[in-house]
Amino acid sequence: MRRILITSSLFAALSVAHSAFAAKPETPIAIAIHGGAGTIEKSRFTPEQEKAYRQTLKVAVEQGYAVLEQGGESLDAITAAITVLENSPFFNAGKGAVYTYEGAHELDASIMDGRDRQAGAVAGVKHIKNPIELARAVMEKSVHVMLSGEGAEEFAKREGMSFVNNDYFDTPHRYEAWQKARKKLEQAEQSNKDYQAQHQQLPQQYKMGTVGAVALDKQGNLAAGTSTGGMTAKRFGRVGDSPIIGAGTFADNESCAVSATGHGEYFIRYNVAADICARVQYQDKSVAQAGQDVIFGPMLRAGGTGGVIILDARGNISMPFNTKGMYRASKSKTQPTYVGIFEDKDTSK
Ligand code: ASP
Repeated sequence: MRRILITSSLFAALSVAHSAFAAKPETPIAIAIHGGAGTIEKSRFTPEQEKAYRQTLKVAVEQGYAVLEQGGESLDAITAAITVLENSPFFNAGKGAVYTYEGAHELDASIMDGRDRQAGAVAGVKHIKNPIELARAVMEKSVHVMLSGEGAEEFAKREGMSFVNNDYFDTPHRYEAWQKARKKLEQAEQSNKDYQAQHQQLPQQYKMGTVGAVALDKQGNLAAGTSTGGMTAKRFGRVGDSPIIGAGTFADNESCAVSATGHGEYFIRYNVAADICARVQYQDKSVAQAGQDVIFGPMLRAGGTGGVIILDARGNISMPFNTKGMYRASKSKTQPTYVGIFEDKDTSK
């Protein structure tokens, strides 16, 4: 009798252990990146150009994913992916950043940790090779969330960051866009249009092109980051949504991680990144539904164009945009590398 009891309790213990083991879900690591949204049409690319953009997006997403696969943190994964995009001349962040009205480059970036809502951001820096690294240093090594201009660079010096001359960020295609923008603005000025009306003259593509990433690591932690040169011919120390926590970047393990790209003023006014995550958390919406509601809702009706990448703690990814295209890529444990540029039917990958 005693033997039967021991055997059955051993069996019970084993089956509890087994069911605990069996119930433990696979850790759903995932990453999504973007390289800006806007008037991105296939006809504007040669096949070689398109291939080169796709290749850079693929390298960035796969480098980020490799960090996750090796057990690295989501913060390291997004930093790795964004650094690839900042170092590429194709995107409006780091090398390849747009020109300000005066012909210089002023860079903005931010990062957020979904574990505890720690965040760091920089605005208007001119000599930092990789602004995402500085945003991360602000989060991890300062007692502040956002530093700007010379003060941010003073902090960067103390942290031993890489400095470059402002002309390191120069590229011929952004120079050309700046020249065109200046011409349009000057023409508008001559015809006595006020500053606001002058800016309405600029086509949408002068207002777009940021990079960003969201990731989920094996520990179940989300992170988001965004980096940009802002908008062509920006003036008066203009700061967009990218360095603003809640507008261009947001991450909270309880809801989701978001990085945005588009006409920053609207993303600030509509608090886009935080609004999407609030809908996920409080309305129990899927990332696809919440993204759809915000990107195609009142912000679009008010004239706000752009897109977002969204990721939740179960590894669900959505990448909605209300423009012609958005450079984007994703990879997760259940989904092979996806790279998109133009409109696809399915933006939830
Ligand atoms: N959102 C950025 C800004 O307004 C621009 C972009 O996404 O291209 O500065």
